[in-house]
Amino acid sequence: MQIIKKIDELRQKLAEIRKTNSLGLVPTMGALHAGHMSLVEKSITENDCTIVSIFVNPTQFGANEDLDLYPRPFEADSKLLEEAGVDFLFAPDVGEIYSPFDKTIIELRSPITKKLCGGSRPTHFRGVTTIVGKLFIMVSPDRAYFGQKDAQQLAIIRRMTKDLKFGIKIVACPIVREESGLALSSRNKYLTKEEKNRASAISESLFSVKKEIEDILSVGGTLPDAESVMGEIIQKIEVAGGYIDYVSVVDPDTLENVEFSGGDQSYMIAIAAFFGKTRLIDNILIN
Ligand code: AMP
Repeated sequence: MQIIKKIDELRQKLAEIRKTNSLGLVPTMGALHAGHMSLVEKSITENDCTIVSIFVNPTQFGANEDLDLYPRPFEADSKLLEEAGVDFLFAPDVGEIYSPFDKTIIELRSPITKKLCGGSRPTHFRGVTTIVGKLFIMVSPDRAYFGQKDAQQLAIIRRMTKDLKFGIKIVACPIVREESGLALSSRNKYLTKEEKNRASAISESLFSVKKEIEDILSVGGTLPDAESVMGEIIQKIEVAGGYIDYVSVVDPDTLENVEFSGGDQSYMIAIAAFFGKTRLIDNILIN
């Protein structure tokens, strides 16, 4: 695996590779776990060449968020990627990507960025679209891999890719979970053992609601209203000691609130909740 830190070198190396090989990109902020590695493995299976980026992107962190504390175990990460068979690791310094004199950002003009996580993190998604847009321009991959775990990010990146005609296939990968059901996240490291046990209430509440809705759909029964389902979830998480940021039943593409109505409609139930000081997100799709 070649480690690249400079954009010029990246461009040079990839121009050669791209002539005869398909290229998969997996953007990450490092502190890699099995969730990230599932994206990496999928890219390796689907492309001749895989490039992973590790960049803790400052523009997606709010003023009171954990940018300085964000874990950066670079040696362990590069070892994992090397062992997995990744071809290139792009790990630029902040100064390589941003200059204090930059005047350009990439931002979706859509309410989709203001919903769910956009409520409490108003500048987060323009940081995400700016860095992912820059990476797409620098790397120009055939496919790019993102986790369903960050469902809003995925919907926003799909939209940006379509609007800016990047011609890159966005591949969504399922959420990888711990045995307890807790979605893997680099931020799980901040949880105490006890908080971690209690935080599994998030996924438990999602699984139980999914089962409830699917059971009703299978016998053609009357579906509950979204409000009561959200109430059920909130109660389970609060009993476990969590503090809710949001719980919403939405359309997975537009993120508009929806009611359960049967038919062809798909639903996503999305949650953000704090356990201790750690903000966790999770979601589940119901088809
Ligand atoms: P991050 O390093 O947090 O920016 O995540 C990099 C990529 O890994 C994003 O596309 C995430 O959605 C994805 N990812 C993070 N956690 C998981 C998980 N538990 N399962 C699947 N994908 C994940």
